Amino acid sequence: MKTLKYVFVSILSCTILMGCGGKEEKKKEGFSYEKKTEEPQKKVEDDVANIVISGDDLMKFDKSEIKVKAGKKVKLTLRHVGKLDKNVMGHNFVLLKKGVDLTAFAIKSATAKDTDYIPSGEEGNIIAHTKLVGGGETTSIEFDAPEPGTYEFLCSFPGHYAMMKGKFIVE
Ligand code: ZN
Repeated sequence: MKTLKYVFVSILSCTILMGCGGKEEKKKEGFSYEKKTEEPQKKVEDDVANIVISGDDLMKFDKSEIKVKAGKKVKLTLRHVGKLDKNVMGHNFVLLKKGVDLTAFAIKSATAKDTDYIPSGEEGNIIAHTKLVGGGETTSIEFDAPEPGTYEFLCSFPGHYAMMKGKFIVE
């Protein structure tokens, strides 16, 4: 009798121990797995400044000022939230280098229909630009934020620069 009881108890405690051990292991695994998947995502988000700017059928951007931190990668998304075709209400986003005359650039752009209003020979004055989009379209570009300072951006579709322009500030 005594021996039987002893065996029973040891089996019981053994089962409990194993159960506990098993659970603990599973918890640990789950924890380290979560950590592994979360960390790289956070890092990517920290290094990239996600900017979304919209243009509409009323020839307006929804932002006149964009701020990013120096050293970041900029992911800029341009959304045309209107309905009009790009031939009549096309929008792009052009970020000019420091000291470039926005009006002079826009006037040159107006005659550059064949190249979607990005005048050839002006590449050296541009930090980055999107393609031209029409109503309902979205486009994205990625570029490195330039050195700290204030830059100008515009839509170079003919006549739009008067309304569609703003400051791009790198801090
Ligand atoms: Zn435009």
